[in-house]
Amino acid sequence: MRLIDSHAHLADERFDDDFDEVLLRARAVGVEAVIAIGYNVASSRGVVDLLDRATPAGSPALYGAVGFAPHNVEEADSESMSKVRDLLAHERVVAVGEIGLDYHYDMPPVQQRVILEQQLEWAVELQLPVVIHSREAQQDMVRMLADGGARTGQLRGVIHCFTEDPTMAEQVVELGFYVSFSGIATFKNAPEVREAIGRVPLERTLIETDAPFLAPVPHRGRRNEPAFVREVAGCVAEIHGRSADEVGEVTAANCRRLFNL
Ligand SMILES: [Zn+2]
Repeated sequence: MRLIDSHAHLADERFDDDFDEVLLRARAVGVEAVIAIGYNVASSRGVVDLLDRATPAGSPALYGAVGFAPHNVEEADSESMSKVRDLLAHERVVAVGEIGLDYHYDMPPVQQRVILEQQLEWAVELQLPVVIHSREAQQDMVRMLADGGARTGQLRGVIHCFTEDPTMAEQVVELGFYVSFSGIATFKNAPEVREAIGRVPLERTLIETDAPFLAPVPHRGRRNEPAFVREVAGCVAEIHGRSADEVGEVTAANCRRLFNL
């Protein structure tokens, strides 16, 4: 089986003690690459440090994304923004992310949009894909990604850990984006996420863990890790009526295409 975990917070301190074992367990189930994701200056630096670090023989290939997530916009002054932007120059940083809008928590929405817009412009300028976090922000998000059509063909990316209304999945596919599903798809209380999976063509689907968060069933409640992306592949496979192997194969190819791996 071939798998790529398109979104994991591998620089999280919860991986400090057994980082090499985590990578080898992922390899053992077929994970051939992992994209490590930042969300502010410290975590983005952590991502770049990981990319420069030696990993055990046979480990999955590591790539990175750096950016300012909506939860961290209050730290995003111009100095911090330029530090993150500088990290985009690393040769194995393959995307701007995670960036986005989150109207669920009480972070200032205007500031969220300003910081997002600035990073979308970096992505267009540097021709890098974006990794988007969107929660309860469907309308503004779709509007900003499209920018009245001005960004069509300029901006590529993925809506990660998709939990918005299934209609948004169709809207972003229409804009040329990919949609990534996490272990939430395996939770009993997430029928809308499973509906969204069914509405996104497999050719536009990515899979991820969002580790260390959101471990899929049957690991729910434990620390999540890239090896568990296999359970996400199994869940997507069931919904599409395909084999887990096929889903792994197709989503890995999608990931390589989007991030130019
Ligand atoms: Zn994340």
